Amino acid sequence: MSLDMAVSAKHFKHVGTPHSELVHHGQCCQLAQRWLLDMHRSMSFHRSENQELHAPLWLRHKFKWGPVQWPLSWCEAVRKKQIDCGVFAAFAREILSEQDVDVFPAQIMLAQPKTYVHQWNLKWANVFQHIQWIGDDHVYHEVCAVAKKGQPNLRIFDPTEGIWIESNFTHGINGVVGVNVISQTIMQWGSHPVGQGKWVLA
Ligand SMILES: [Zn+2]
Repeated sequence: MSLDMAVSAKHFKHVGTPHSELVHHGQCCQLAQRWLLDMHRSMSFHRSENQELHAPLWLRHKFKWGPVQWPLSWCEAVRKKQIDCGVFAAFAREILSEQDVDVFPAQIMLAQPKTYVHQWNLKWANVFQHIQWIGDDHVYHEVCAVAKKGQPNLRIFDPTEGIWIESNFTHGINGVVGVNVISQTIMQWGSHPVGQGKWVLA
């Protein structure tokens, strides 16, 4: 099968899309954040004691992936059965920020064969206009980037899938073909300088 994945910068329509932020009303949303952090503590408790970082792998078991209506608040989001990658990423940032690391919003592009993209378009058509995340031969995805405090070397965690992403551009289906880390300074992702809200493309 020809995957037909000639990815070029000009048709990356998501360049410039801001990452998703949940609305914070005040006390109701503070309680929602506290619930999330308490859930994480409880879900991480029985996992290995000595890990320096507890990524929220449980999120993908608790929430299904699906469209939500934006804008969305914390107190609404935690009650959803399904959430999109923007909500997964916001949850993960909140959880990881409690730990001894620097956490940044991050966006990636994943290569998709055009046949898949066609399927996505059919499946997501007219669902809250969420079709914007689907490109010609790639999809837009929100994740989060983590570094040891004050250190430049980033790792990228994908809370929707519950996995750490390899620190390099990769080929094939779901290969990472673009990265944007929203950090104040230039960071290092594998061999690539990234950060300051600038897309780096494969
Ligand atoms: Zn609220």
